[in-house]
Amino acid sequence: MQMQVEKYDLPDARGHFGPYGGVFVAETLQAALLQLNIEYAKAKADPAFVAEIQYELKHYVGRPSPIYHAKRLSEELGGAQIFLKREDLNHTGAHKVNNTVGQALLARRMGKRRVIAETGAGQHGVATATVAARYGMECVVYMGSEDVRRQAQNVYRMNLLGAKVVPVDSGSKTLKDALNEAMRDWVTNVESTFYIIGTVAGPHPYPMMVRDFNSVVGKECLTQMPEITGRQPDVVLACVGGGSNAMGIFYDYIPQTGVRLIGVEAGGDGIATGRHAASLTAGSPGILHGNRTYLIQDANGQISDTHSVSAGLDYPGVGPEHAWLKDSKRAEYVAINDDEALAAFHRLCRTEGIIPALESSHAVAHAMKMAPSMTKENVLLVNLSGRGDKDMATVAERSHAATGYPQ
Ligand SMILES: *Cc1c(COP(=O)(O)O)cnc(C)c1O
Repeated sequence: MQMQVEKYDLPDARGHFGPYGGVFVAETLQAALLQLNIEYAKAKADPAFVAEIQYELKHYVGRPSPIYHAKRLSEELGGAQIFLKREDLNHTGAHKVNNTVGQALLARRMGKRRVIAETGAGQHGVATATVAARYGMECVVYMGSEDVRRQAQNVYRMNLLGAKVVPVDSGSKTLKDALNEAMRDWVTNVESTFYIIGTVAGPHPYPMMVRDFNSVVGKECLTQMPEITGRQPDVVLACVGGGSNAMGIFYDYIPQTGVRLIGVEAGGDGIATGRHAASLTAGSPGILHGNRTYLIQDANGQISDTHSVSAGLDYPGVGPEHAWLKDSKRAEYVAINDDEALAAFHRLCRTEGIIPALESSHAVAHAMKMAPSMTKENVLLVNLSGRGDKDMATVAERSHAATGYPQ
């Protein structure tokens, strides 16, 4: 089925991307989501709100981020030219701040002085704590107690920024338990509190809203690529955890049917081992966190354990818009395993002097796979979603026979 891309205006009014998305939450949350939907629609249509976001993205985040021609890497591979959209150069070092700035400004507009978030690896918690400090808001971040232990540095960062990190001791003491706690807080304090979700998942309008706030990335590429290369790229690649950096760079390219869109999931130890986080490549549709999408689940619909060397991709679901882009074949999804991502990480460090996030290294790895069989005139655009400073310990402790590089 070829999508009618000229008419692409999803989601529909009830938050559906084809059979995906929607609002699968308890009745107590329905009213809050409806209010959010109405307020967001008003804000989006208000030129003052749009201008405020643009100002913040320019002066606080440092946008627009450049596009960089990875010339040495491309020459070594001997095929297509690889370009990197440098989201790693944003304030806080990744794309996540594009979204937290937008949601915090919406919270302020709605008169909410308190923001909450849940976080797994801590990256979204830090991005939320950052904007809460910037706009003088109270900030509470829920985090599984197991994650608090594993991600001590990000907990310290959030504390420095004035946020309160609440360890969650229930269940597996990880992300999904933190999420339940954040939902509970929101239901209880909905008058004063705005819930900042960190990726294009959750109930409507979150997948749409987070996509919109990140779509500045693709919008910039649409004007930057012709300035640099005289045309749009042949392929746009991005890693997919929940899918926000990928939706951010894909969205404005959806109507450009000549441009292939490729999402790169975490293949972990390899799809065949079952130790991965590739929901679209190896999962099946179901309902999680308020929406219908592809999930990694067993035959009884129980969510399976996931694995990836990069904490930011280690999520058993994916945003519902990606589920639709997969089924409609407008985008393709592939998996890159831990070893391939680590090899790409080292290769980019050494050829270009850029230390990428392990998440982003998955997208770089797939571009490296594609480039040699393409011509020198072909252009690959990779969303370099973040920088790798946070990953030093992980990279150092992984012995990596595939590259032979020192650890
Ligand atoms: C969190 C994170 C991701 C994964 O989240 P998406 O919503 O899939 O973008 C990817 N890259 C970096 C650098 C991250 O911090």
